[in-house]
Amino acid sequence: MKNEELATATNGQRLTANGQYSMVNDQYNLIVICTHVNPDGDAIGSSLALKHYLERKGKQATIVVPNVFPDFLKWLPGADSILIYTNAKHKEQVQAAIDGADLVIVCDLNQPNRLAGLEQDITASTAPRILIDHHLDPDKDFCQTIISEPAMCATGEVICTLLNEWNELDSISEEEAICLYTAMMCDTGAFAFNSCRPVIYEYISRLLAHGIDKDQIYRNVFYTATEGRLRLQGYLLYVNMKVLHDRHTAIMTLTNGERRRFKVKNGDTEGIVNIPLTMLGIRLSIFINEDTEHPGTMKLSLRSVGDFPCDQMASRFFGGGGHKNASGGKLQCTMTEAVEKVRAAIECYAEELK
Ligand code: 5GP
Ligand code: MN
Repeated sequence: MKNEELATATNGQRLTANGQYSMVNDQYNLIVICTHVNPDGDAIGSSLALKHYLERKGKQATIVVPNVFPDFLKWLPGADSILIYTNAKHKEQVQAAIDGADLVIVCDLNQPNRLAGLEQDITASTAPRILIDHHLDPDKDFCQTIISEPAMCATGEVICTLLNEWNELDSISEEEAICLYTAMMCDTGAFAFNSCRPVIYEYISRLLAHGIDKDQIYRNVFYTATEGRLRLQGYLLYVNMKVLHDRHTAIMTLTNGERRRFKVKNGDTEGIVNIPLTMLGIRLSIFINEDTEHPGTMKLSLRSVGDFPCDQMASRFFGGGGHKNASGGKLQCTMTEAVEKVRAAIECYAEELK
């Protein structure tokens, strides 16, 4: 596929076998893979799966991420090669990789601003860009090729689908299989939500045939809490969680002062927003987290069960977005003000939450 063809390719559709050629043909040898700020298991797992795949095809693939990723993903094969934009020691390598890239793959995000500090360098690059993602409403002007599958549970599933279409899913490496399984497992809470489509389990069955140990993967991700994380969890639930019973909503907060007190490490707060949803009757959980890198910025995580549209609430009130049942956003204010704004937003959905 030539560059001009790339430019007109498949907006909103999946690549065909011809499209696969655009990633593995001779034209592209130095490939940069990037993903969203605060990378999660799907972001890191999908990026690593692509890297292993491309390297198996003889390409040089470098993953660059906007900021640090959680410790519970560091066991993933290849994780130690990931370059982190905010790590001063990686700065030159990040720049060199982007400057030298002849293809950029943008993984697990729908808008360039999700690249945070990397946005400028990635959008300034003249290399063609391919988006591979499962979030709603991908930015139409950001990447020439858009592979967007919002019905899919994870970007990992989008990649499984591509590999399946290319008749390659059964011949991937064990490393690729581990990364793809981890990606889907993380974005579905270990297949507890957003994971009813039967094809997911067909892919899992084929990934297991590569000899991966899914029980070990589960333990690597979910059974590696620090003492700080467990104590923080207890504190947040006991002290900081406010339950608005008449709105079937829970709000939790965490300030940087509290982070220091509990020696909270990056990743320690991952998944805590889901815990209030285990309470009978709760349909919406909002976690307000002061940004460690930008004090004064409050990051919001929203999770819902059923029809409540978190993404709509996040974009209307918190300058963010995401999925129907999992979204996020930001507020520039104090924690007290953020709680007030969140309560006001909840009141605007009083009817839906009653
Ligand atoms: P988390 O709560 O894990 O940070 O984010 C959950 C989901 O919400 C992410 O997968 C992403 O889709 C979305 N999200 C989080 N923060 C933002 C944001 O600031 N802007 C947008 N557009 N989406 C966000
Ligand atoms: Mn994802």
